[in-house]
Amino acid sequence: MRRRPSDAAAKKRKRLVPDSLAELRRDLAVAYRIVATEGILDAFGHISVRNPENPQRYFLSRSRAPSLVQANDILEYDLDSNPIVPPKERPYSERVIHGEIFKARPDVNAVCHHHAPSIMPYAISGMPLLPVFHLGASMGASAPIWDSRDEFGDTNLLVVKPEEGASLARALGDASIVVMRRHGATVVGGSLRELVFRTIYSAKNAEHQMAAHVLGNVSPLTAGEAQMAFEIHRAPGPLARAYEYWVRRLAEREGRGKSDPMLRAAEAAARQPNPGASTGKTASGAKKTGAKKKSRGRR
Ligand code: MN
Repeated sequence: MRRRPSDAAAKKRKRLVPDSLAELRRDLAVAYRIVATEGILDAFGHISVRNPENPQRYFLSRSRAPSLVQANDILEYDLDSNPIVPPKERPYSERVIHGEIFKARPDVNAVCHHHAPSIMPYAISGMPLLPVFHLGASMGASAPIWDSRDEFGDTNLLVVKPEEGASLARALGDASIVVMRRHGATVVGGSLRELVFRTIYSAKNAEHQMAAHVLGNVSPLTAGEAQMAFEIHRAPGPLARAYEYWVRRLAEREGRGKSDPMLRAAEAAARQPNPGASTGKTASGAKKTGAKKKSRGRR
């Protein structure tokens, strides 16, 4: 019996990719499954990561539901979102979201596009999403809104043309999240871990903002609070602590034992003293220096 084409393609990719990138593909696949486990991605939505060895390329899964994505589903694209190796599998139609943002934002190394239930009321109503609690400040001080109608009129809402992706990237500007009218949101990060954290906590922020709206008197963080809380929640310590928690929840969902290498690596990373301590990025250090880092803060 002939081997299925998908197996052959996966084997071929495996041969071409050095170990360091194999690890990145595995991390990317885990990020897909974490963000799905946390209820943000369902059958749709996707996450990409820039190739650290060639910033003009990025990795993205083949067209597949995020909770099912494995390392051998990951394809590589140039920034015009053309595949590096002609894929035998179907790509995501909305991959230009990733390529155009990587083009426009050299500081961004990971992108998540989703239609989370918590974000949709903002995408539908146009009500501004604001940081309303400390962890929610990881979304940045504000979330610009992009409306496909402004430049493109009636479409099927999918972002599939390069000019649509570029328009979205312009709306994102130097922010960390852009809300897409009647569609969803796109979140960016300097690393995969930062992106996962920001994606999950911006969605929680959206939930809390709406719940508080029922009571009234919604009072967002001040610009100064938003800036300081943004900085502290991108430090390595909090990222490692949250990542261990999410990896454990994923492992439980997938029925992996405690000896699972992915889980053990996350546990070991979280146990280390704060790797940021020596660079002044401790809790108190971030508070003292946060206000001076404005130029980096929105990213
Ligand atoms: Mn979409």
